[in-house]
Amino acid sequence: MPCVFCQIAAGQAPATIVYEDDRAVAFRDIRPQAPVHILIVPREHISGPLEVTDANAALIGHLVAVAAKVAQQEGLAGDGYRLVLNQGHHGGQSVFHLHMHLLGGRHMRWPPG
Ligand code: AMP
Repeated sequence: MPCVFCQIAAGQAPATIVYEDDRAVAFRDIRPQAPVHILIVPREHISGPLEVTDANAALIGHLVAVAAKVAQQEGLAGDGYRLVLNQGHHGGQSVFHLHMHLLGGRHMRWPPG
């Protein structure tokens, strides 16, 4: 099975893209869990947070920086937002291409479900 997020990053699968650059793509989640729910993915295929090492750690910083830009773009800067990385079964990961959830537009509860 081809990786759907690799396909979106390559422009080979449909998505509502809100930001892209040479290293990352941000697009709207198809099953939004908040008024704003955007996924930020690296173009490079990394299966999840567990595969992050010092060799690709800078890319994670870039995803956080992209999230900040997109949050500004979406009007979330004032009220804030949540960034989530899910790993594996207990983490609730369902797509095995690293992605950062950017959630905003409502108050987020803690602890998360
Ligand atoms: P996770 O459970 O952390 O792996 O999150 C995967 C997310 O990807 C879920 O919130 C899905 O709704 C979302 N998703 C799956 N396929 C697509 C797609 N083709 N376009 C946009 N979002 C997707």
